[in-house]
Amino acid sequence: MSVINFGAGPAKLPREVMLKVKDELLDFDGQGISIMEMSHRCPEYDRFNNKIEQLVREQLSVPDNYKIFFLQGGGTALFAAVAMNLMGRTGTADYFVTGSWSAKAAKEAAKYGKVNLVLPKTDQYIGVPDKSTWNLSPNASYVYYCDNETIHGVEFPFIPEVGDVPLVADMSSNILTRRFDVSKFGVIFAAAQKNIGPPGVVLVIAREDLLGNPLPITPLVMDFTVNAKDKSVHNTPPTFSFYVLGLVFEWCKAFGGLDEMEKKAKWKSEAVYDVINRSNGFYSCLVKPEYRSKMNATFKIRVPELEAQFLSEAKKLGMIQLKGHRSVGGIRVSLYNAITLDEVKVLVKFMEEFYNKNK
Ligand code: PMP
Repeated sequence: MSVINFGAGPAKLPREVMLKVKDELLDFDGQGISIMEMSHRCPEYDRFNNKIEQLVREQLSVPDNYKIFFLQGGGTALFAAVAMNLMGRTGTADYFVTGSWSAKAAKEAAKYGKVNLVLPKTDQYIGVPDKSTWNLSPNASYVYYCDNETIHGVEFPFIPEVGDVPLVADMSSNILTRRFDVSKFGVIFAAAQKNIGPPGVVLVIAREDLLGNPLPITPLVMDFTVNAKDKSVHNTPPTFSFYVLGLVFEWCKAFGGLDEMEKKAKWKSEAVYDVINRSNGFYSCLVKPEYRSKMNATFKIRVPELEAQFLSEAKKLGMIQLKGHRSVGGIRVSLYNAITLDEVKVLVKFMEEFYNKNK
């Protein structure tokens, strides 16, 4: 039986990419060795490193005044790195908290400076509160938000307007899923293990004028200025993960680019939310419709005891990793780029049948 992996991350990678990895595992680029056995200082690797940067720049339309580089330590390392690299200007930063990941980022940043919360405090993450409630401070070094909250399934349908203050976005779970204007941002980062590669790498896109002012305590491995200058090879990078990430960006280009990814994401998420909306409350998504994530659809089942049954029946049909995050429970369907329309059709059919049987 084939498996459909709806996991939130590490998540499904495109089949074409995995087959290429298999093909090239023992012999990368005609070198007779695997990429993970190759020095990160050799010309072949350098060529490859440049190619990845170019692919990212091209696919995401990154302007020339932005550096592209990769760090390690996952999204969590970036929670600290963002603060250490950007807090220096005024010692204060503004944070939108719209779910668990931005809450963690704000808590981490508070170790390095003063954190001002833009939104009224809540533990009910169901969208982005109205602009009239926003409390942006006049002297923030930067404004931070998480574009897609992977646990709660809350996605910003707009880029927050914050004037001249540099905007920082965590796009770990929705980068490469739609077009957006990079020039509206100071820094964008994305842990790779959802839409763009295997775990172990974080993509960082940073405006050049924001570099050069890290807090003195910033470790070298987290220093944006150093790692941008040394093109992600200041120290030994996770070369294999970079390589797969490069293949994913190539795959995206070959399969229609961002426009196609966006179209597919819309179709897939609408198919799932449509079943929820038509279920008379049997399935319920707490997130307000306009903020529902196109990548992570979260919902509960009216009778909570049915959730275990839902997961077990889905698993018998090959659908795995549908359990909601341990902190919120329920069901979570992750619909990253590698998930095909046919896979979503299988899930939707199952959700409908499960509803008809148990309503
Ligand atoms: N930000 C977002 C939006 C995430 O989904 C995650 C992890 N799922 C993180 C940050 C943290 O990433 P990591 O586990 O790589 O530290």
